[in-house]
Amino acid sequence: MKSTLRLVVFAAVLSSWAYAQPQSDVHVLRVQGNVYMLVGAGGNIAVQVGSDGILMVDTGSAQMTDQVLAAVKQLAKPITNRPLRYIVNTHFHADHTGGNEKARATGRTITGGNVAGNISDATEGAAIYAHANVLKAMSAPTGTQAPTPTGAWPTDTYFKNTNELFFNGEALQMFHPKSAHTDGDSIVFFRRSDVVMTGDIFSTTTYPIIDLQNGGSLNGIVDALNLILDITIPAEKQEGGTMVIPGHGRLCDEADVVEYRDMVTIIRDRIQDMIKKGKTLEQVKAAKPTRDYDPLYGASTGIWTTDMFVEAAYKSLSAKK
Ligand SMILES: [Zn+2]
Ligand SMILES: [Zn+2]
Repeated sequence: MKSTLRLVVFAAVLSSWAYAQPQSDVHVLRVQGNVYMLVGAGGNIAVQVGSDGILMVDTGSAQMTDQVLAAVKQLAKPITNRPLRYIVNTHFHADHTGGNEKARATGRTITGGNVAGNISDATEGAAIYAHANVLKAMSAPTGTQAPTPTGAWPTDTYFKNTNELFFNGEALQMFHPKSAHTDGDSIVFFRRSDVVMTGDIFSTTTYPIIDLQNGGSLNGIVDALNLILDITIPAEKQEGGTMVIPGHGRLCDEADVVEYRDMVTIIRDRIQDMIKKGKTLEQVKAAKPTRDYDPLYGASTGIWTTDMFVEAAYKSLSAKK
């Protein structure tokens, strides 16, 4: 009886799975402290919730925004009835900022200093923090038509190497590595919750994407991974401690970043060595400098193939400084 019932339930789950297309589902994972991770909406999203309201780091792809906002609302419900106050963008790519406009409109900016309450004009929306080069890329990179609507643009940008925010009793630090995945990356550190959000500098699913057109560089990615490792501190036995949310893929800790940093550094050194010996791009590709890592990070199709990575790495390392 029991097993029959189980089988029926299983079949029902299977068929609902087939029709409901769960690949469009946004999954919520409690990380630690006040921080949650949302998976399944393009780039990973971090959400910090507390008595002051909600803060999101990145907003996912535009087509997922309704589901993202519903998930955020649900997870915040038992904790606060205050709105979304802040969005922080790790960089400008659409799989991380596609929800900006809609998400911002659900929120409200806190006025600075001693002013009590909210700005009365609700259309003001939540504040969007990012490095200045994010605004540059989203507003008008070619000097003509802006690629994104103004409502999606950062409202508070910074130019230096660091920026900070204090919200829900927690200090947030933003670290800007000069030229890593793009030229406008921010690594976001929730100091009390002890969680780092890396953006696309770190991924568990692909080789690092070097966006050369937008100021990325391979050496910059290695430096940025080392910067992340400066921030993270493992708990005993090298497990746990600071938790790391990658731009794509699963929740990690410091040991995962060490492994990734080592992989990127080794491949960088191999390609650099071949360039020094005068090898052409074709010769470098033929030598398969990534071979031993391809089972983990390689791809022959999709948005970031092994071939594209080797080519971008070669160009980045050959570029005159
Ligand atoms: Zn991404
Ligand atoms: Zn990206």
